[in-house]
Amino acid sequence: MDFQVSARKWRPQKFSELIGQEHIVRTLSNAIELERVSHAFLFSGTRGVGKTTTARIIARVLNCEKGPTIDPCGVCTFCTEITAGNCIDVQEIDGASNNGVQEVRDLIDNVQYATSAARYKVYIIDEVHMLSKSAFNALLKTLEEPPPRVIFIFATTELIKIPETILSRCQCFEFKPLSQPQITQQLELICEQENIEIEKRGLEDISKIGAGSMRDAQSLLDQVIAYSGRKVNSESVEAVLGIVGGNTLETFVDKLIDRQPAALVSLIQEIVRQGKDLGLFCRSLMEYLRNLLIVKISKEPEGLLNSHTYSLEILKKQAEKFQADELQVMFAILTRAEMEMKRSSLSQMVFEMALLRLIETRPFQKIDELINKINQSENSNIQSLPVQSESSNSQETFSAPNVAQNTVSESTPVSWKQIKQQVSRTKPFFEHYLEKCQVPVLNEKEIHLVFHDKFTFDLVETPENIQFLKETAKTVCGHDVDIKLILDTSQPPATGAGAEKKKTVDNEETETGKQKSESEIIQDALDIFGGVVVK
Ligand SMILES: [Zn+2]
Repeated sequence: MDFQVSARKWRPQKFSELIGQEHIVRTLSNAIELERVSHAFLFSGTRGVGKTTTARIIARVLNCEKGPTIDPCGVCTFCTEITAGNCIDVQEIDGASNNGVQEVRDLIDNVQYATSAARYKVYIIDEVHMLSKSAFNALLKTLEEPPPRVIFIFATTELIKIPETILSRCQCFEFKPLSQPQITQQLELICEQENIEIEKRGLEDISKIGAGSMRDAQSLLDQVIAYSGRKVNSESVEAVLGIVGGNTLETFVDKLIDRQPAALVSLIQEIVRQGKDLGLFCRSLMEYLRNLLIVKISKEPEGLLNSHTYSLEILKKQAEKFQADELQVMFAILTRAEMEMKRSSLSQMVFEMALLRLIETRPFQKIDELINKINQSENSNIQSLPVQSESSNSQETFSAPNVAQNTVSESTPVSWKQIKQQVSRTKPFFEHYLEKCQVPVLNEKEIHLVFHDKFTFDLVETPENIQFLKETAKTVCGHDVDIKLILDTSQPPATGAGAEKKKTVDNEETETGKQKSESEIIQDALDIFGGVVVK
């Protein structure tokens, strides 16, 4: 089979075939029809959006035997030579490899000669930001007083690196990244013409990964076709691109709804084992949550959904299990995780920790309900506050009333918060585990950590982790402290919302009957329920 890569085969040959750059096409078409063509253009924009293609179209538009015309014939000597890249009057220069002052001087010498046959000499300099400073300076003079019938077209992905003196002598155009539907539509057209059978879902996945670049999307399509032949199913697209399919996302969210942390973590391991990209999965999950939110808030969500990859029926069913603000908090957790994953060499762990936080988010409580709960508990004067990791109350220190008896000496009180801060300094991710436990005993000799879910308990209870905790406590306290881990599944997890809290430590402030401000109450609520203020 005579194979030609899609990006080259389907390269637009005239303005009307260019996709997504209507603003540029209109300005250029007008200029040509009015015969007011600039002698220097600068095209900027991300890769694969049509900069060099547009430059070649301009060369054809100006030099076509039937032209200048915005609709070049495509069959005359000039049109075919320019398309094939062997027209002597249209030169394409790679700025990255011809970036020295001598190359530019040679070019300028060449500029002075009249065209051999074409109407215009066109110099297309790609990656022009790679030119050296002296090379740019050598160009300046020519740009100021260009010989007649010479056109320069510069293309760059890094506009910021182009000197102001050059910018001011060019007509500048910024090329926009292409939208997902624009890319999908073009891929659909290519497949139709090439007799490739492919599901729309697969094309959407390719466009998504193409991220605004038509060229990238087209070469991904080539890869997929090379792998599967003329009949392509979504599974093979997923396999080639390393993405996690819609079915896995649906299963994933089901496990989230059922609060099955272990199942989620093993699903993640499976995804990694299959060699798929966790960062991409995190973004797909964000998109999925966004779609759940849309389904939740809109009566006619079809037109608003980001992708048609997912089953609307399943989305609707799952959306019923979430509250809108809960989905927003989950989205915020994933946004942060996605950024942290890029920076971390332990991206899988970062993602796992984020997932555990997602589970803790559920079920999300309304803030005014929480305030009511706090007020009720204050009014009835029931001491029901557990020691919470985020809390900064004095209840956590050795000098708190009920643990004071255990204190051996009158040394400086050490708080659980201080120990946790030390943990976060040496093992940042470990702190997440400790957010789930209660600390009923904390004195100079020993610290008891009570976990209410077996999953976290098992994660923490390893000889290395206990040793790590002992060392951390020693660093903070200045002497050996015994660490005891206790699993108590008779109570719901400490962060579970709405659960009745067992009395653990007295709260000084409520004992003194001090009135709390609303912001303090909200902070208490957040401490108790492990929530986040979204707005
Ligand atoms: Zn022509």
